[in-house]
Amino acid sequence: MNELIDNTFKILAKVTNSKTGLLLRINNFESYVMSLVDVNPATFEEFIQSLAHLHRSTGIDYDSVENLPVYKSIVNELDVQSCFIQNVYSINEQNDSVYLFLFSDENNKLFYSENDVCMSILNILSSQVKEIFYETLNKKSLLPFADTKVDADTIVKNWEENFKNLLQISNDLIFMLDKEGCLLKVNESGALLLDYSERELLGKHFLELVPADKNIEVSEAISKMLQSDKVINFTTNLKTKLDRLRSFEITGRTIMRDGKVIGMLGIGNDISKMKKYEDELIKLKPKLTEAKRLISLERARLWQQSSLIEELDRLKSEFVSNISHELRTPLASIIGFSETIVSDPDLPEEMKSEFNKVILNEGKRLAKLINDVLDISKIEGGKIILNKISFDVVEILKEVVDRNNESALRKKITLKFEHPNNPILIEADKEKIAQSFEALINNAIKFTNGDGRVKVIVNNQFKEVEIIISDTGIGIPEKDLPYIFQKFYRVSRPGTEIPGTGIGLVFVKQMIDLHKGMISVQSEIGNGTTFIVKFLKSFKAKN
Ligand code: ADP
Repeated sequence: MNELIDNTFKILAKVTNSKTGLLLRINNFESYVMSLVDVNPATFEEFIQSLAHLHRSTGIDYDSVENLPVYKSIVNELDVQSCFIQNVYSINEQNDSVYLFLFSDENNKLFYSENDVCMSILNILSSQVKEIFYETLNKKSLLPFADTKVDADTIVKNWEENFKNLLQISNDLIFMLDKEGCLLKVNESGALLLDYSERELLGKHFLELVPADKNIEVSEAISKMLQSDKVINFTTNLKTKLDRLRSFEITGRTIMRDGKVIGMLGIGNDISKMKKYEDELIKLKPKLTEAKRLISLERARLWQQSSLIEELDRLKSEFVSNISHELRTPLASIIGFSETIVSDPDLPEEMKSEFNKVILNEGKRLAKLINDVLDISKIEGGKIILNKISFDVVEILKEVVDRNNESALRKKITLKFEHPNNPILIEADKEKIAQSFEALINNAIKFTNGDGRVKVIVNNQFKEVEIIISDTGIGIPEKDLPYIFQKFYRVSRPGTEIPGTGIGLVFVKQMIDLHKGMISVQSEIGNGTTFIVKFLKSFKAKN
């Protein structure tokens, strides 16, 4: 019995690959209460009693174990440094309990898979102990604990057979090689893992099971084991009879007699599933990277959005100050000129009518500004109603150009209008389209210096009409071009600031979009700007 337990411990120690200290308690087998470390039996018993109590009341958890007063005194006597309870296993069937404590130093923690292995070996041990014990009892018709020595002897006698059983039950590949590396023994379940029967494998050289790409690596591991007489570990794939590959983590050691190697022992832990998960994990990695990339893109987008909102806020407050200025200037003229007329009854009629003209123009400018703002908010609110009719776009453009002749003349700008002689019809809101051309031509004159030239060209194309409004003015910097149709956006020209509100082009673009037309812009700083507008022609009769 002692030998059975002792050997099981050795297997466990090998499997867990640790300098593990072990204490074992098997209830109802008081005489076999034992400690592999040299602990005072009385202290150990006290410890066990407390544990049994804990187990009955709460189930074992090692926090409570470590709080037991006797725990420290036990641990102090153990032959491991900085040891702590690594794990407590218990198998409890009615009155029979087996407790196994694995003590190890902190750096040598067990893996979960090793815990499972310990647990299954412990299960085997527990049933073996019970089997041997009751067998002995039946044979000798003795009461339990009647003759401890006889029980122990029986167990020792049956040890080989029981250990064989243990190997067969094990889920691992357990094998023995001769000194040449040929298989002498292999457990049945291990052989099955490789799709062979036990007999088929006997006599095969171990390297025959190793795939070609791993051959050198495994040969090197085995020669290292032969030279050092130490436990070695290596991971390899093994070929099954059906040509499948299974991954094993192999722990091996030489068998020595009289200082000579006579064979080798090994346990192979089937890690194929783990490997599969690892491979899947590797496959998932690019997806994770992709997900991370998308998250960072999304983050950047959000950041951009928030800075866009900040920019919009800035533009809005700039707009408020600009629009107040735009409102104040015409209002000041209106009030100024009307006051002069009212306060001076002797003002010559000629001057009066001149002043009235100024008042009227400034009033119109004010009304236009207010209408533009109202129109934009109406478009944005989806409330604008288009009054579409079929009309001649050339005729409308002619009217707009005529209206702007005077301001062009004032700045000594040549305003030219080139157009086909026949009418070109479009179906649109005549007033809004006229307003849009007005804004474009106005801008062309506003941003062109004296002696410059503004040209309005109408091209009659197959299904479309193209209107080009180009100037030889100051131009728009390339970096500002993408933003000029944005609300409140104004090109900043320090030192030569030209008044404006940044809504004219917004209105133009929104109107053209509403009519399913197109607008584009080309510009070169210092050389002028060209706006190109396109509308689908109407083939309906003019309204
Ligand atoms: P604003 O009331 O400031 O003129 P707009 O929406 O009409 O607002 O124009 C936006 C910006 O586009 C203006 O600040 C101006 O700098 C630029 N811009 C528009 N048309 C021209 C042009 N023909 N030449 C140069 N710059 C122009």
